[in-house]
Amino acid sequence: MTSVQNVLISGASIAGPALAHWLERRGIRAVVVEKASSRRTGGYTIDLRGKAIDVAERMGVLDGVRAAKTEITGVAMVDAEGRAVAGFGPGLIAPEERSLEILRGDLVELLHEAAPDAEYRYGDSIKSLEQQGDRVAVEFDSGGSESFDLVVGADGLHSKTRSLAFGPERPYRRFLNSYVCIATVPNHLGFKGEARLFNTPGRVSTLYHTPRAEGAKVLLLYRTPAESEIDRESPAAQRRRLREVFAGMGWETDRILADLDDAPDFYFDSVTQIHMGAWSKGRVTLLGDAGYCPSPMSGQGTSLALVGAYVLAEELAAHDDPGPALAAYERRMRPYVAANQAIAAPGLDFLVPASAFAIRARNLMLKSGPLLRFLSRFNSRLSKAAEAIDLD
Ligand SMILES: Cc1cc2nc3c(=O)[nH]c(=O)nc-3n(C[C@H](O)[C@H](O)[C@H](O)COP(=O)(O)OP(=O)(O)OC[C@H]3O[C@@H](n4cnc5c(N)ncnc54)[C@H](O)[C@@H]3O)c2cc1C
Repeated sequence: MTSVQNVLISGASIAGPALAHWLERRGIRAVVVEKASSRRTGGYTIDLRGKAIDVAERMGVLDGVRAAKTEITGVAMVDAEGRAVAGFGPGLIAPEERSLEILRGDLVELLHEAAPDAEYRYGDSIKSLEQQGDRVAVEFDSGGSESFDLVVGADGLHSKTRSLAFGPERPYRRFLNSYVCIATVPNHLGFKGEARLFNTPGRVSTLYHTPRAEGAKVLLLYRTPAESEIDRESPAAQRRRLREVFAGMGWETDRILADLDDAPDFYFDSVTQIHMGAWSKGRVTLLGDAGYCPSPMSGQGTSLALVGAYVLAEELAAHDDPGPALAAYERRMRPYVAANQAIAAPGLDFLVPASAFAIRARNLMLKSGPLLRFLSRFNSRLSKAAEAIDLD
C-alpha cells in the first residue's frame, strides 16, 4: 500500500477536484486549498477529447458532461459587415464521438460532486513549503500550518506551488506571441447556440452563445511580436490595450470593447505554455496547467488536467514510495503532453491567421475540398494527440 495517505492539493478548478476524486476512491485524504473565495461558476467553453472522455466515464461524470454540452452547432466566419463568408459545424475540428464541449464552470461543478469527501478550503493559499524528510511542512496565508505526505500544485498557469518549489515562472514560460481576452457581454445579436468570428491580420474578434449561460461570450485574441508586462497590469490598463489594438476593426468589435467595461468576468492573459525539465521535486509535484499548460490554442488543457489526475493517482496507488510513483507519472504523461502542446501553433494559425492572404486561404479552404482536406489533417493530428496515452 502506498505510504502517501495525506495529500494537499492547491487549486480547485479541473485538475484539483479530479485528483481529489481518485484519491478519495483509494481512501487517501485530500485537502484542497483554493484562493478564490468560493467555487467558480460560468466561464468559457472547454473541451474533453479522446482519453479524457474515458477518464470522465471512469469517474462517473460522463453522463453529466453530455447533459451539459454547450450545444453550439455552428461557427461562421464573417466579414466587416457581419456577412458569413465561411463556416464549419461540429466534427470538423475533432470527431464528434470523441469530443465534448462544456462550460468550464459546469465541469468544475461535476468534478466537485464527484469528490464529496475532499476537504475544500476556499479563500486560502499556500504561503510556504518546506520538505522535511518524508513530509512537507506547509504554512497557509490564513495563518495555519500543517504537514502532508505530498503536495500537488494544481493551481494553473501562474502556479504559486511551482514558484515556491521550482522558482519563478519566467524560465518555464513559452510565450506564443499572443494575448487573449474572454468575457461575458450582452447578447445584442440574439445568438442562439452559435458562434461568429471576424478576423483581420493577427486579430480575431469572436462572439458566441450557449443556452447554458446568460449573455454572450466574447473572445478577443491578438498576435504581437514581443512579450510585454500587460498581462500583469490592471484590468483597466488591459482594457485600454485592447482598445488600442481592436478599435475600428469592424463588425461588432467597437460595441464589444464598450461592453467589456461592464463585463462581470473580464479575463486577460498571455497565450503561454509551460515547459519544465521535471514536474516533481521531492514530495511536491505539479498537475495540469501548473506543470504543462498547453495554452488555450491547443484546446487540450482540460483533457491534460483530467488525464494527468487519473495517471498520478494510479501511480501513487501502485507504488509504496512517492519517488517512483512521481517518476512513473511523469514518464507516462510526457509523450502525451508533448503531442498536445505541439498542436497549439496550428491552432493559433487557424483561429488567428497572420496575414490577409492566410485569412482568405483559410476561408477558401473551409468552402472547398482541398481546404477541408487540410483541416482534416489538423483534425487527425488533434485526434491522435488526444488519444496519445495508454490508460490500461
Ligand atoms: C481563455 C481560455 C480559453 C481556453 N479554452 C480552452 C478550450 O477551448 N479547451 C480546453 O480544453 N481548454 C481550454 N482552456 C484551458 C483550460 O481552461 C485549462 O487548461 C484547464 O482549466 C486547466 O485546469 P487546471 O485545473 O490545471 O488549472 P486552472 O483551471 O487554471 O485552475 C487553477 C485553479 O487554481 C486556483 N489558484 C490559483 N492560484 C492559487 C493559489 N495561489 N492558491 C490556491 N489556489 C490557486 C485558481 O483560482 C483555479 O481555481 C482555456 C483557457 C483559457 C484561459
